[in-house]
Amino acid sequence: MTGENVAGRKHVFQGERPMQPYIYPPKREFVEPDWTRWPGWADVTKEEWESALWQRKHSVKSLRELAAVWGDKAPEGLLDSIDKDARVNGTMSMLIPPQMINCMNENDLWNDPVRRYMIPAFDDRHPEWPSHPKAERDSLHEADMWAVEGLTHRYPTKVLAELLATCPQYCGHCTRMDLVGNDTPNIKKYRFNMKQPERWEAMLDYLRRTPTVRDVVVSGGDVANLAPSQLESFVMPLLDIPNIRDVRLATKALQALPQHFLQDEVLATLDRIAKRAHERGVEIAVHTHVNHASQVTPLFAKAVRKILDMGYRDVRNQGVLLRGVNSDSHDMLDLCFMLLDCAKVMPYYFYMCDMIPNSEHWRLSVREAQRLQHDIMGYLPGFATPRVVCDVPFVGKRWVHQLVDYDKVRGISYWTKNYKTVVDMDDADALEKRYTFYDPVYTLPEDGQRYWAEYAKSNKE
Ligand code: SF4
Repeated sequence: MTGENVAGRKHVFQGERPMQPYIYPPKREFVEPDWTRWPGWADVTKEEWESALWQRKHSVKSLRELAAVWGDKAPEGLLDSIDKDARVNGTMSMLIPPQMINCMNENDLWNDPVRRYMIPAFDDRHPEWPSHPKAERDSLHEADMWAVEGLTHRYPTKVLAELLATCPQYCGHCTRMDLVGNDTPNIKKYRFNMKQPERWEAMLDYLRRTPTVRDVVVSGGDVANLAPSQLESFVMPLLDIPNIRDVRLATKALQALPQHFLQDEVLATLDRIAKRAHERGVEIAVHTHVNHASQVTPLFAKAVRKILDMGYRDVRNQGVLLRGVNSDSHDMLDLCFMLLDCAKVMPYYFYMCDMIPNSEHWRLSVREAQRLQHDIMGYLPGFATPRVVCDVPFVGKRWVHQLVDYDKVRGISYWTKNYKTVVDMDDADALEKRYTFYDPVYTLPEDGQRYWAEYAKSNKE
């Protein structure tokens, strides 16, 4: 039975009394789903499943491979729709480890949240507005802020080091679609010009010469695609730079391919890195990217535990806010509690999906994101309540309530900044300006939709 409160929001009733909008604990089992339910993996042994090599070899890279795994679980029309999307809209090629496919609901693959963000289908997208007219490749202009190729210096004290441009999995909504992964029929990817050893050395050199930077996100791509010796060859000298006080290693594969992190050589490397960080008094942590509670499984938790036991300060989750994946407060709270309770992972951020081409059906309006932040407050411990943030081009992340103005008809939010970056260092007005972000057109009232339809038309002519 349901009823409405004054704000028009639904309460669930039990008997006469309205219950909380969200009831803890999540109604979800913490188990490794049985992979033999998938026709393609009916004979796969536990030993094979837990082998990183087996997982990488059997990662799904094509529609044909996906069809073979799903077999009769593939619902009518879905494979054709995925095929069409890859040809018409796709910005990322298909690459998904078995561990991740195994988190999907075989009985509802059309609506499954992991399927929706990892393997987009043409019919998932909004028919009129697959892209916002203002969408851009490299929508955050990271390359404009490269101090060295792949080293984004966007904030005063911290940098992002993109060590490589590949991952063990490719997410449909990837912000770095400009750079990461293979070319697709629609997108020719940017390639680093510098050779890897020189590029990495140039990054380290820049950090040695720049004492105002204290914090480095070591990312990609995904650091799980580096050989352990390569990771060590960058991180050890990084830890020796006196001004570096915080290092975070970024890997979605911790969830998507935990088998990688359970290999002896990888564990030994991570352990040596943790010890060096400890000796140098540097805080080291791991950042991962999990978007739905179904992805929190015992193998993921086991890999996290190993990392925490080595003395890493934290494993934190930076999810992406995606419609139909985690855009409901129940889904988001379920995910956060599963991360916290079962995997000891700290819910940290949910980034609004960036304005890259063909991301509209995943994106939420700022208003919706604010509502979501409101609706999750008070359930989790304060230290584990994730912040929903908007990554505003030329500004950086802002909490969704930090906007300074909002045109709700045209869906334009206005933001300010309080520091300069390399691109606006000489701009005397940079801190006075208002920077814009745009809501998905289909969420706007009719007047707003008409405005953007005319805008799109006049920009085409
Ligand atoms: S893991 Fe991160 S970098 Fe790699 S495809 Fe997904 S979102 Fe992009």
